[in-house]
Amino acid sequence: MDKNSKIYVAGHRGLVGSAIVKNLKDKGYKNIIGKTHAELDLTNQAEVRKFFKEEKPEYVFLAAAKVGGINANNTAPADFIYENLEIQNNVIKAAYDFKVTKLLFLGSSCIYPKLCPQPIKEEYLLSGYLESTNEAYALAKIAGLKMCQFFKKQYGANFISCMPTNLYGPNDNFDLNSSHVMPALIRKFHEAKVNKEPFVEVWGTGKPLREFLHVDDMADGCVFLMENYDGEEHVNIGTGKEVSIGELAKMIKEIVGYEGELKFNTEKPDGTPRKLLDVSKLKNLGWKHKIELKNGIISAYEWYVNNK
Ligand code: GDP
Repeated sequence: MDKNSKIYVAGHRGLVGSAIVKNLKDKGYKNIIGKTHAELDLTNQAEVRKFFKEEKPEYVFLAAAKVGGINANNTAPADFIYENLEIQNNVIKAAYDFKVTKLLFLGSSCIYPKLCPQPIKEEYLLSGYLESTNEAYALAKIAGLKMCQFFKKQYGANFISCMPTNLYGPNDNFDLNSSHVMPALIRKFHEAKVNKEPFVEVWGTGKPLREFLHVDDMADGCVFLMENYDGEEHVNIGTGKEVSIGELAKMIKEIVGYEGELKFNTEKPDGTPRKLLDVSKLKNLGWKHKIELKNGIISAYEWYVNNK
């Protein structure tokens, strides 16, 4: 990629896409394009093809997806599989037909089997059953990753994929029904502090382990891969460190300055017990995260307070 290459960031208003645009601009890339959902419906094949034909982007970051936390994924699996397959099919095929130089497809660590050995190496993909609460999303993402591999194998297209761990940061979704745990707990603790509520409800047992990566690090890793990686296999992006949901809740409680209690609601699902990525492949390529969890939560909370 050179600084004047035409780069299309699909999903440029979202958590990941907005961070990628910021990272590219900081690195001096000048020709970045994005389209809002209202301007371009990525589930509409004809619209997507028209866009690629007219704009002819050279590089594509495919960060557009229907995403959500455990509740959204668990209750709307039809929407998650359908919309994600539509978006990625349309964008990947159009990228091939209209001669995009390189495309990076973004997935998620939920593609790996529920009970897979930890930390999770890239090669553990498709070695066991998926976690049921996000099976639909995972299947779509596995199809996207494989589609990139197959376009590379059959046609020589330079389409690569990366699989990030749980992400958080600016422009996150703070809706309590559809968000992930980090934004949900930031909001719940903040509102409980302001309203002087006696307790905050934390879903599940608090025992599941999760790994969290600040989206600015994620964006930096994506741009690094676009600049440096042409391999067939997908690449994990994470910190290689994990924390229990109970510990995470206590950290957020402290950072927010809330003094009430935590109440674990075990009627809500825990999801997968553990999903820690093995990030040695990316490390060996020369990239490592910079933002540690505590500082990341402090800045994410600050963003929430200023933008909620
Ligand atoms: P997951 O990583 O795909 O399971 O997605 P989430 O980020 O939504 O959930 C991670 C874990 O946090 C699960 O064990 C949830 O039950 C737990 N959790 C605790 N409180 C909350 C909450 O308020 N919202 C969400 N989304 N998850 C919560």
